[in-house]
Amino acid sequence: MNAGRRLRKHPETLKLVCMDEFKQKLQKAGFNGEMLDDAETKDTYSHDASLFEIRPQLVVMPKTSADVQKLVKLVATEKKRIKNLSVTARSAGTDMAGGAINDSIIVDFNKHFTKIGKVSATEAQTQPGVFYRDFEKETLKHGALMPSYPASRDLCTVGGMVANNSGGEKSLEYGKTKDFVNELKVVFSDGNEYVVKPLSKKELILKMAQKDFEGGVYKKIFNLCEKHYDTIKAAKPNVSKNSMGYTLWEVWDRETGVFDLTKLIVGSEGTLGFVTDIKYRLVPHRPHSGLLVMFLRDINKLGEIIPKVLQYKPATFESFDDQTLWLSIRFMPSFLKLIGFKRFIHLLISLIPDGLQLLRGIPKLILMVEFNGQTEDEVRAKIRALHKDLGKQRARYEINGMEEDPTEAASEKFWLMRRQSFSLLRSKVKDKHTAPFIDDLIVQPKYMPEFLPKLRKIVKKYDLFATIAGHMGDGNFPIIPLMKIEDPNERAKLLPAMKEVDDLVLHYGGSLSGEHNDGLVRGPWLEQQFGKEVLALFREVKHIMDAENIFNPHKKSDANWEYSYSHIRQHF
Ligand SMILES: Cc1cc2nc3c(=O)[nH]c(=O)nc-3n(C[C@H](O)[C@H](O)[C@H](O)COP(=O)(O)OP(=O)(O)OC[C@H]3O[C@@H](n4cnc5c(N)ncnc54)[C@H](O)[C@@H]3O)c2cc1C
Repeated sequence: MNAGRRLRKHPETLKLVCMDEFKQKLQKAGFNGEMLDDAETKDTYSHDASLFEIRPQLVVMPKTSADVQKLVKLVATEKKRIKNLSVTARSAGTDMAGGAINDSIIVDFNKHFTKIGKVSATEAQTQPGVFYRDFEKETLKHGALMPSYPASRDLCTVGGMVANNSGGEKSLEYGKTKDFVNELKVVFSDGNEYVVKPLSKKELILKMAQKDFEGGVYKKIFNLCEKHYDTIKAAKPNVSKNSMGYTLWEVWDRETGVFDLTKLIVGSEGTLGFVTDIKYRLVPHRPHSGLLVMFLRDINKLGEIIPKVLQYKPATFESFDDQTLWLSIRFMPSFLKLIGFKRFIHLLISLIPDGLQLLRGIPKLILMVEFNGQTEDEVRAKIRALHKDLGKQRARYEINGMEEDPTEAASEKFWLMRRQSFSLLRSKVKDKHTAPFIDDLIVQPKYMPEFLPKLRKIVKKYDLFATIAGHMGDGNFPIIPLMKIEDPNERAKLLPAMKEVDDLVLHYGGSLSGEHNDGLVRGPWLEQQFGKEVLALFREVKHIMDAENIFNPHKKSDANWEYSYSHIRQHF
């Protein structure tokens, strides 16, 4: 046997040969973007912000929608010959669930899909690779905001937000990304770009009559929604935010007669097509904000406090635990570096009253209720009204202190603790890394008094180094332990701890993901979340839209834990 033949038998070599051929064909097809397969690029694209790593076969950076279409068309054709050929979209790569990595051709939208189009006070058109922070600068020029931005707002893109159906601190008042998408352009698995937007029944009938791939998609998805109408509507998790599965229950509404395929694409993790253009609905930006902060000694009182606070319709309702508070105190000098000397001194002075509060006993939870308004007076009035109402019952609620911080500057110290203490902890603990595997659970807030102590017990049982801070108003907690995940003993904790937490969440009728989506970490638990029948419907959706599984395999209805577990990160 000659050396060439021997070499060609090795699967890795075979992959390289196939990729070389693929690159040549793509170039011949007129693809204008970059194609990279050097070791350094592959290393970089092996990771996102999840606890997984997978080496891509190739990384491409399309310049235009035409490039994306050529790529998808070629993949669809070549897939008949090269079985493991697939494409996985990536924008900023901040995905915590492993959605943006794969043994695939990674398609980077963050390099060239960076143009912001027409922006008005009510709508903005943008390409998906635009950083949210840049997008927001433009919308604010028009006094408007896309309010479902995540905590990673300075790092992520608007396209990643669509694919994950992201949410954040303002989702309590405004909802999630799916609620702000007016229209999308999407490249489907036939390699053509389509406009996807809500359709009236009349428009839907016309669409379904088309004798092409698009017509087939609309007809089959509509038939599926009609045939299983009650099952689909009942599948919606009973929480205010969900990113698990496909949001089928919002696609077809018999009462309004609206058929909205954007609801299926948003949150689909790029498993049904590639988003090439977005029209976002915007809301007026209210420039003033302030906080009412409560120091709570008795978690049992949450059951009464939460509904009372929600009656006042706050913009955000966040919380952090005593562990987070201790970390903030321990790392106080590090805030100096983060915010600069002047702001740090201001922070110290403003903390004096809170130091006095702490002398009365360390609270179990700090609750932060934020109100927004057009003027400072409007914010102050909203804070006062709630303060007064809660004040009457203060002893019964065991709130051992309340503080009014009616301006953004005054409330900064609490936001710093809520947002930055975890990042600081992460930067201090050098031998451990973030391990997001129970990072996005959500249960109805009314269960918090029972749920939180049980959750703490599991965190303690597995000796997980984690704080409990999150979106109290939605009952959504991003719990991200710091672990030495490359150590087999630590890795062995993942599955049992995750199972216990997941069982607890599902016992309270919650969802395993409020915002961060399924990816490699939660995709394998779709059956536990939704049951066999609904999982079968998700699989049918995938089959209708991407029968050859070319888009982001191993995610959503194609996920399995063996595959995910075999890609737990080993290199840091
Ligand atoms: C510190 C930190 C805090 C976070 N906080 C939050 C939070 O509060 N709320 C929240 O929702 N998330 C949060 N996340 C997760 C993540 O940042 C968000 O989900 C974000 O919206 C992802 O954007 P991205 O540009 O990084 O997308 P990527 O990570 O690049 O991709 C995300 C997913 O979108 C798909 N995708 C990307 N571009 C396209 C496209 N053009 N077409 C189709 N599919 C595409 C990818 O395949 C992948 O499945 C956090 C992450 C970090 C690291």
